[in-house]
Amino acid sequence: MGVNFVMEKRETTIKIPEHFRILFTPEDIAARVREIADEVSKDYEGKTVHLIGVLKGAAVFLSDLMRNLTVPATYDFLSVASYGDSTESSGVVRLIKDLDDPVESRDVIIVEDIIDTGLTLKYIEELMRSRKVSSLTKCTFLDRPDRRKVQVEMDYVGFTIPDCYVVGYGLDFEQKWRQLPGIYAINQPT
Ligand code: 5GP
Repeated sequence: MGVNFVMEKRETTIKIPEHFRILFTPEDIAARVREIADEVSKDYEGKTVHLIGVLKGAAVFLSDLMRNLTVPATYDFLSVASYGDSTESSGVVRLIKDLDDPVESRDVIIVEDIIDTGLTLKYIEELMRSRKVSSLTKCTFLDRPDRRKVQVEMDYVGFTIPDCYVVGYGLDFEQKWRQLPGIYAINQPT
């Protein structure tokens, strides 16, 4: 038996600074997330996917992605530090919060908010492989290839963006603006 859900729509107004420039509206995002979820559901037919979200940025994307999947899904989160409160990567990645559950023999999808230098993803990918997952793919909402330091192969990409710092849809600037339903470019040096 299938169940259809219709989410109630509500107008919200959040004041944002004038220099924020919209890149993707909530409608753009919803449509793209559905497309990715369809792709994942097709690729994983007959399996249960285990989504590994990277805190805090990927929480919003993971939650929307999961609710659009038609295959059974479980999820867990880990947290790493690489950025602090600035817009420049320190280049050092370390584990702040580990997963709650073992990933051995599971079909894992790493879910990221944005791939920038690639260092965070590389670290998490190696960590997952060392834990003997059954299979591993990588999904990111945004990809900014301009500042890559290490090569990473992505399986699912929402949008590729130019070299500008972005906020909204889970992504922050100094912990703020994660709540914005769209993606905005801000005039900060990247
Ligand atoms: P990487 O290790 O690929 O350089 O960085 C990945 C992490 O840096 C992302 O998961 C995200 O938390 C943060 N990050 C990179 N670029 C941006 C950006 O444009 N905006 C925000 N809010 N975070 C970013």
